[in-house]
Amino acid sequence: MTATIIDGKLLAQKLRADWKLRADRLNAAGIAPGLAVILVGEDPASKVYVRNKIKACREAGIRSEEHVLAADSPLAELVALIERLNADADIHGILVQLPLPAHLAQASVIEHISPDKDVDGLHARNLGSLLAGHPHFVPCTPAGIMEMLKTTGLDLRGKEAVVVGRSNIVGKPVALLLLQAGATVTLCHSHTRDLAHHTRRADVLVCAVGKLRMIGGEMVKSGAAVIDVGMNRTSEGKLAGDVDYGAALQRAGWITPVPGGVGPMTVAMLLGNAVLAAERYAAEQGIRLDP
Ligand code: NDP
Repeated sequence: MTATIIDGKLLAQKLRADWKLRADRLNAAGIAPGLAVILVGEDPASKVYVRNKIKACREAGIRSEEHVLAADSPLAELVALIERLNADADIHGILVQLPLPAHLAQASVIEHISPDKDVDGLHARNLGSLLAGHPHFVPCTPAGIMEMLKTTGLDLRGKEAVVVGRSNIVGKPVALLLLQAGATVTLCHSHTRDLAHHTRRADVLVCAVGKLRMIGGEMVKSGAAVIDVGMNRTSEGKLAGDVDYGAALQRAGWITPVPGGVGPMTVAMLLGNAVLAAERYAAEQGIRLDP
């Protein structure tokens, strides 16, 4: 069996065209959807991600502003910037690019973002709403994964879903979303004994670890939907996932490539959340949008 490739780039393009229509509607009503992106330090990968997000905003009709702070900026400076943006009526979404330098505790920084502008969906209030089953903003990568699974046409109810990795950004929220979709979910992590025992019975396998090709083909159930979130560099400097793509392609029913899979979907879902934040703001202001 050769798996169907879930093309994240193509799906992201379709979604971005939808967000653009919604952003255009907001702009026509006098609300320019505004996203503020905060970058602390000079991490080269983070700089590339921020640049891509800003470019994607421009293409989608979303106004973005970039705020760059020095790597050794004190917490108080970052918090003051976040609070200023929280109070800025022209900014509907705020994103702090992660990871932050070690002296800035990620979780406590995120808690300063207004939950109504937390387009990454990582504020404890937003994660709590997700847990309670009425999400306000869904974290971007997990939301993108669910969109990709939709394209398979699989009914997730009763399916065995195995998520490898339990971060707040990917593993835990995607496990919650799969649970809400009716799957029976197993969440694996670094203390899991016999990982292959779990992955081999997964109808849906989501890998979010960050270890090059740690999921071999023999660890994939025949016909499974495999979502590879991992982003790793090979010895030749190429981008590759947590799954041995070549081997898994021969066994899985569906598979996401790296690059061109989950990555583009994460950016697309960020734009979606930014548009949603601006639409909520318009509704609060009593501004009607053309249908
Ligand atoms: P974290 O480092 O926060 O989490 C990694 C998780 O993997 C942890 O829960 C850890 O377990 C688990 N783990 C580590 N080793 C093993 C093992 N041998 N077996 C099973 N589980 C293990 O990473 P993130 O969730 O932030 O990111 C994961 C990967 O996804 C990275 O490669 C990252 O670059 C990529 N990523 C890609 C995105 C995209 O848009 N494409 C977006 C976000 C992330 P424990 O908790 O026990 O330590």
